Amino acid sequence: MKDLYSRYTNDDLWLIKEIGFSRELQGVREAQMALGNGYLGMRGIYEEIPYNCKPGTYIAGIYDKMSAQVSEIVNFPNPVNFKFTIEGEKLGVVAMDIVEHRRILNLKKALLVRHTVFKDTKGRLYDYQSLRFVSYRNKNIGVMQIVLTPLSSEGVFDVCTGIDTSVANSGVLTEGRKRHFRVRELGQEKKCGYLVVETLEKKYNIVYWAGFYYRLGRKKIVAKDNIFHLRLKKNQSVVFTKIFCIKHFPYKEDHTAQKEITFNIFSKAFRSDFNSLIEEHIEGWKRLWKKADIIIEEAEADVQQNIRFNIYHLLICAPCDNGFSSIGARTLSGEGYRGHVFWDTEIFVFPFYLYNFPQIARNILLYRCRRLAVAREIARRNGYKGAQFAWESASTGEEETPEWAKDIDHTITKIYTHKMEHHITADIAYAIYRYYLATEDRKFMKEWGYEVIFEIARFWASRVSYNKYKKKYEINHVIGPDEFHIDVNNNAFTNMMAKWSLIVAAKLWQEVRKEKSLCKKLNLRREEVKQWKQIAAKIAINISRRNVIEQFDGYFKLKRITLNKTDEHGLPLIPSSIKAKDLGKTQLVKQADVVMLLYLLSDVFHKRTKEANYNFYLPRTVHKSSLSAAIYACMACEVRDLHRAYNFFNIALRTDISNLYGNTHQGIHVASIGGSWQAIIFGFAGVKIKRGKLFITPYMPHRWKKIVFNFLWKKCPIKLEVTNEVIKIKISSSQIKSMEVGIFDKVISVKTNRVYTFKRSDLVTKEESYY
Ligand code: BGC
Repeated sequence: MKDLYSRYTNDDLWLIKEIGFSRELQGVREAQMALGNGYLGMRGIYEEIPYNCKPGTYIAGIYDKMSAQVSEIVNFPNPVNFKFTIEGEKLGVVAMDIVEHRRILNLKKALLVRHTVFKDTKGRLYDYQSLRFVSYRNKNIGVMQIVLTPLSSEGVFDVCTGIDTSVANSGVLTEGRKRHFRVRELGQEKKCGYLVVETLEKKYNIVYWAGFYYRLGRKKIVAKDNIFHLRLKKNQSVVFTKIFCIKHFPYKEDHTAQKEITFNIFSKAFRSDFNSLIEEHIEGWKRLWKKADIIIEEAEADVQQNIRFNIYHLLICAPCDNGFSSIGARTLSGEGYRGHVFWDTEIFVFPFYLYNFPQIARNILLYRCRRLAVAREIARRNGYKGAQFAWESASTGEEETPEWAKDIDHTITKIYTHKMEHHITADIAYAIYRYYLATEDRKFMKEWGYEVIFEIARFWASRVSYNKYKKKYEINHVIGPDEFHIDVNNNAFTNMMAKWSLIVAAKLWQEVRKEKSLCKKLNLRREEVKQWKQIAAKIAINISRRNVIEQFDGYFKLKRITLNKTDEHGLPLIPSSIKAKDLGKTQLVKQADVVMLLYLLSDVFHKRTKEANYNFYLPRTVHKSSLSAAIYACMACEVRDLHRAYNFFNIALRTDISNLYGNTHQGIHVASIGGSWQAIIFGFAGVKIKRGKLFITPYMPHRWKKIVFNFLWKKCPIKLEVTNEVIKIKISSSQIKSMEVGIFDKVISVKTNRVYTFKRSDLVTKEESYY
């Protein structure tokens, strides 16, 4: 039978395809083909829920702790389930033979399309096609359509759908599967089904409404029940359209009104025509892509799709609730890290939103700002002042790191990150300041930003200890980004980020000190700010005579390990003689640490320092975290190691599409999808923010012809087309007449609302045009 949805599957550069069914890849595909809209996240499961299927329906920000070690993102009942049986035989990828099968995720339109031909035990064929989306237009609504056609003979089909409550969160380590909700009410009303569940600990009410109708020829029949029979003639198609609505509410004993509110949203969609629902959804996505797309001209085979795949995943998890939720390390596509929020959000994905959708960036910051009171409490409990943010956080902002987790060799190991990985508190200040620089959103700063940054400075001022022999401030007992080394002193990344936080806070104080009411609210005095500056001036890091920054005290004395084997992706392999528990005794580094520092504080370090450290840490870093490759790609661009930059970029780019870390089934790695965006924009396209100005100096892979992208800076949309030789730029603004931009490192005043083309050869006289 012909493809009924072929109009959605014909633009290859926007499609992710699954051709044929693979049991081994089922979980990976579920994460890759997830749908979402920032409020709802749904794994890309097969509607028939085959064996080993892992339905996942998540609501941003709704966690639950009941009977678990720590809070987990709740896996809610599954509305997608839709099952057919014929004479007792289940129609499905595991139960029947598959004659043909493909699924296509259309990234441009955020649609999941499927076409499968099944063969039953009697050799009869069935054509099955489906299309599904989670509405961008109305965040509570999901829509699916299924078309079934018996190809060999007529038959009676048992149809069973409804909202499946038999779902649970996956077990982690030794904990079993857990259900974090209780059914309060379920039934049929007004020809539709409803379900009300409550979460066990926080007691949110979640209301579902779902209904479906089917068309046989011209007849439209609204199904009264979720289970019924249907007789189909040979080659007769039945088209089912199912609409569901999911909405959460604070707990209320009497949820009648909540049911009513949800019903009204649902019924509006249910009464709408399928075509208009899909069209308005596609229209919404068109607007998103207009801002977010990156076009690489003449990229090799699948690079363009893979870039769009990563951006698609950034778009479907973009929080839209003013700080109620943030983005977990594995988005809303799986339960990896239990949906917890790490520094991955502020450092790895935040820039994508900041320079495309500042409103979403603001939401991400608000998530932290609204939890300032808890951060203050964490600092107080740990004996510090100001605010200390949790290493892993969920709904409240309390520390949610589990005590135990799997190590890289799969042994179960005790976790210390929550006790020592304190750099997250500086990372949050870093994101707030970046936001301020890019948007000049003073209102946000007055309401939230200043206070959080000052509280963070207070934390660091109390966290340091003075070493009177060295006459330096030290930060002891920490874990840096490299988690192989636990309980170290003076991790350079942590020290420098703390120092930076203190300096920035002191600088921002200049902006607010004359505003009496704000100062009163912040309870800040000049002496305290003076002290921040004094401390910052004396926070030290060790630098060798060869310009190499020592990752932490004593690192240089650790055992040097030579890495001479790589895996099939070119990533270094740790010699099998070294046990995971002994990695801390070696110089092997889990992920970019000093290199991360040089990347984030790029302005502060000289090119020579960057080169020396990149060269030193490159052979020592094993990239055992998905956070590493993108940062190495960016730094490789800076030091013009362009061949390696491209290899690292490819690792970041393919982390999930190729399941490079073997755990994509637990969800998409948010840091590598955000990191790959940074590698293109800040690495290859060479966009930099230096001394508060925008600079563009592309160093892109020779095989790429051009990068075309948008970038929002100081409220001005900027359209850029860059090659290694030419930069075409248009800055739009109705407010300003021109903007100073560093083009091939030369600062030029660019007039707004005009297209300019600059040639490298006309601007650069010598290659030292660095800083
Ligand atoms: C990394 C952390 C990261 C976390 C969540 C860990 O393996 O070392 O830096 O925040 O994963 O992605």
